[in-house]
Amino acid sequence: MRRLRLTTTFALVSLVAMSALGAALVLATSHLLQRQALSEAARTAQAWVLAGVEREVPEDTLRTGDLPPALSQHLDAVFTPRPGSTLLGIRLWTGHGVLVYDSSSAGAGGRGAASTLRAPADTAPARAVADPQRLADAIRRVSAQSSAAVVTAVDSNGHTAAALDVYVPVLYGRTSPSAVAEVLLSYDETAAAIRQATRTVLWVTAGGLALLFVLLFRTVHRASRRLRTQASENARLALLDPLTGLPNRRLFNDRLDRAAAVSARSGLPLGVLLLDIDRFKDVNDTLGHPRGDALLVEVAARLRRTIRDADTVARLGGDEFAILLPVVESVAAAEQFAGRVRQVFDDPFDLEGMALHVDTSIGLAVLPEHADDVTTLMARADIAMYTAKAAGVGVATYAGQDAVHDATSRLILLGDLRAALGRSDELHLHYQPKVDLRTGRVVGLEALLRWQHPTLGNIPPADFIPVAERTGLMQQVTARVLTLVGAQMAAWRDEDGPQSQLPVAVNLSARNLLEPELDLFVADLLRTHRISPSLLELEITESALVEDPARAIAMLRKLTALGLTVAVDDFGIGNTSMSQLGTMPLRTLKIDRSFVTNLVDNEAGPVLVKAIVDLAHEFGLLAVAEGVESPEVIERLRAMGCDVAQGFHWSRPVPPAQVPDVVRRLSAQDPPGRPAAAPQRTPRPPG
Ligand code: C2E
Ligand code: CA
Ligand code: CA
Repeated sequence: MRRLRLTTTFALVSLVAMSALGAALVLATSHLLQRQALSEAARTAQAWVLAGVEREVPEDTLRTGDLPPALSQHLDAVFTPRPGSTLLGIRLWTGHGVLVYDSSSAGAGGRGAASTLRAPADTAPARAVADPQRLADAIRRVSAQSSAAVVTAVDSNGHTAAALDVYVPVLYGRTSPSAVAEVLLSYDETAAAIRQATRTVLWVTAGGLALLFVLLFRTVHRASRRLRTQASENARLALLDPLTGLPNRRLFNDRLDRAAAVSARSGLPLGVLLLDIDRFKDVNDTLGHPRGDALLVEVAARLRRTIRDADTVARLGGDEFAILLPVVESVAAAEQFAGRVRQVFDDPFDLEGMALHVDTSIGLAVLPEHADDVTTLMARADIAMYTAKAAGVGVATYAGQDAVHDATSRLILLGDLRAALGRSDELHLHYQPKVDLRTGRVVGLEALLRWQHPTLGNIPPADFIPVAERTGLMQQVTARVLTLVGAQMAAWRDEDGPQSQLPVAVNLSARNLLEPELDLFVADLLRTHRISPSLLELEITESALVEDPARAIAMLRKLTALGLTVAVDDFGIGNTSMSQLGTMPLRTLKIDRSFVTNLVDNEAGPVLVKAIVDLAHEFGLLAVAEGVESPEVIERLRAMGCDVAQGFHWSRPVPPAQVPDVVRRLSAQDPPGRPAAAPQRTPRPPG
């Protein structure tokens, strides 16, 4: 478009300019030629005057104007036009304008060769008077050339021809003229020559200019094309990411805007996926930028292969990519696609001969389900990605405002938890006693983690343990708990109080059982603190066994081989199969709090709890009830044959320093299971 305009403009302007230039050249040339022809005519005329008039006509005769007939006849012979000569005729005038001789009148007298003069272009036929102005000029000896004029001559046969009419002073070697000769010269040939020359000049000029035009046009055309290529290259660079060649943020936003407009008209939803590479910074930092770049290029190539033609994959910057799905069937379909995108990261990346496994976090948001406009849509996809990363779940769909708070606060917690693990004053343990329902004696303690956050205060484990579980921090958390428990047990043993020989239960997370060296860590801990393995109990939830039962059970066997005991925590809410219960090296089943606390008010409760108690006994396991808050519940549990229980009724989890007192107080109670003070229902903690 732009090239066309530029070259067209050039063509028009230069054509006009060159035509003007050519015309000027031709006109100037023909003018010059004409002037030259006139000056030559003047010289020829002068020659005729010198060689003809001055030689043949005596000076006096001319001055008086009295020409004898014999001389006139002689002159007729001299001035008769001859082939090859340009002379057409001659007239002699006195200085006062009286005609002395006219060669053309010879024709009238029968000779018939001379031409008659006509006035230059306009006036009447043959003149018998001289042109007064030119006559005066000739007498004043103004240049003969300027006195030459082109006229039309008519010969005796009536043919007309162009002629030059020149007034020449007749001087006879003097300075002031005696008379004036009017010489009529043929102009036909000269005019033809001038025309020919002009034509030649015209062609040469036109040809030259055409050639010049072509050359210039080519130059301009090429320059214009170069400019255009440059411009489109610049435009391309402005819209594409130079490293990966993918559309950049600007182009992505542009396409998103357009897709949103189409979606608004069609009513079909549109999806946006945002993804970034987990721990890309580490790749860059540890492997160097060239490998980081290679990774980005490879990720881009793989992403490009996953999408359809209508979709857009773009690099928004850094390790952040976006995929635009202009039309999606449903949120579920988009989620399915996101899952496929994630699989792109299944295979390791080959970075300059080095295989590297990287993962991604993908956030998905759909218009109009999750946002009304593209800006909000992008923000929500971003939040979803953040959620995916924080929760370590790979793909997350935007899930409303509550989830946002959740996700961001979880994210903050994640960083803070990492910091807390590096410090010694924020994470500590509380202990809750377990009571034997038959004897009323404290038979064990459960260690429960507490986090005293520097600004948020006490954070319940239910809020931060899931975060730790999903982000790979759980191993460190459990190691910290085990270390604290080991040190605490050693301290209590050395204090030799009522708590000194109590077994302590530690909660393990599902993932902990999949750590290959957990048993070594535990064994090392027990050895260091010289603790009897039988005093350490591990509480595991059913979910630990769901993920990879074979490995989990193998680890449990190693741990029990050390002498530890194992309890299944929160039993009843999961889905441990009966056959699994049989194959696991267990000692205890802990009945989930939700069945116990409201045992009395709930109709199905007693049946369920009784069933679990019987099941435990069936497998030779201890039944332990948690969440006991009232004496009525204790009565019921005891009636069902439940062995052990724990709950706020006896004690909340307390700091280690209070444990000896609590154990002492509970052991002094009588009858078994009844608190020493008046039985009072312990209010449930808020939340
Ligand atoms: P859990 O293992 O079932 O722990 C028992 C929870 O019930 C504790 O909550 C305890 O304070 C609470 N509880 C005890 N008696 C009563 C009662 O009578 N009424 C009511 N309403 N609640 C009672 P806590 O300490 O908030 O711990 C919650 C969960 O956090 C634990 O459930 C456990 O799954 C997890 N957790 C706590 N500490 C650790 C730990 O060190 N490691 C791991 N992996 N998980 C832990
Ligand atoms: Ca527990
Ligand atoms: Ca429990």
